[in-house]
Amino acid sequence: MPEPNRRFVLAKRPDGKPDRETFERREEDVPEPEPGEALIRTLYLSVDPYMRGRMNAGESYAEPWAVGGPLRGGVVGEVVDANGSGFETGDIVTGNLEWADYATAPGSDLQPVDPDLAPISTALGVLGMPGRTAYFGTREVARPQPGDTFVVTGAAGAVGSVAGQLASMAGARVVGFAGSEEKVAFLEDDLGFDVGIDYSTTDDYRAALEDAAPDGVDAYFDNVGGEITDAVFTQLNVDARVAICGQISLYNAEELPTGPRKLPTLIEKRARVEGFLVGDFAPRFEEATRNLGRWVSAGDLEYRETVTEGLENAPEAFLGLFEGENIGKQLVKVGERDD
Ligand code: NDP
Repeated sequence: MPEPNRRFVLAKRPDGKPDRETFERREEDVPEPEPGEALIRTLYLSVDPYMRGRMNAGESYAEPWAVGGPLRGGVVGEVVDANGSGFETGDIVTGNLEWADYATAPGSDLQPVDPDLAPISTALGVLGMPGRTAYFGTREVARPQPGDTFVVTGAAGAVGSVAGQLASMAGARVVGFAGSEEKVAFLEDDLGFDVGIDYSTTDDYRAALEDAAPDGVDAYFDNVGGEITDAVFTQLNVDARVAICGQISLYNAEELPTGPRKLPTLIEKRARVEGFLVGDFAPRFEEATRNLGRWVSAGDLEYRETVTEGLENAPEAFLGLFEGENIGKQLVKVGERDD
């Protein structure tokens, strides 16, 4: 077992945009599991936009991280000491664990990952939390119908790329906003979106959307917020559904913008705007994973992963989310699986 155990803690709370100084790497002994806890060797670590909220002192929907305290996130790892946790040594598991080479967790906080079902990394992406977010946000909140126009922002990311494909499967025309030409090609050529809009080279989001969605917008899955969302609101149709999944364009803002105000549109259009949290659908996670797994196996649902090598590069992988460096799910590969 390589020693010491590398782990990251929150060095300080960021003002605005986090940077490398937000993170501190420590080297400590590999932790000893208590009875009923497993010791897990990290293979893949997930970095996610919601972690930005956990770096603030104030309440967000996830509890704030303590300064000097561990950073935690979705991990897929291998049990190296089962220690009465209910798992066997060598089992592949997933759970919310520290950003570290090794971490301990009670067996009840871990879920098994079947390595024969799909690549184990997918438990953090298309078959994990982001896939489930897309599944429930699309099917239960945005609810695209055949013939609808469905718009998604952050379209080439972990959640957006799945949401758009699920809307296509439901018979909608799908328009995605993403931040580069390469991402637009990914949406249109690999995922089968009807139109991708490269917002990084578009000044007038509204005009771009009018071209891409001449019949208006019936369902909107928002991962980004800000000016793109302002533009989408102007194009909503009567009875449109807006699913507010994320607002990444605002996560590093020191002051939240207050305008322009788009709510009058909702009166005329009798539109419904609904925020949601994937955790609210926990009793149905198994259904989501089963269906997503079936569609991936059948080749009906494509997914992409951007894999950063090495735990030491986890901060850069996280920071890259805010620069649009990832296509599909951003992961950090920390260790190799023992065969
Ligand atoms: P992504 O894989 O989509 O990565 C983030 C992407 O956001 C980047 O690649 C970038 O793509 C885009 N982005 C970053 N900054 C901006 C900006 N200022 N303006 C526009 N786009 C920007 O992340 P996820 O799929 O994991 O998450 C997507 C959203 O869903 C996030 O807002 C997240 O917080 C939210 N979420 C919500 C959940 C819930 O339960 N409600 C659960 C999980 C996620 P680009 O190049 O296109 O700019």
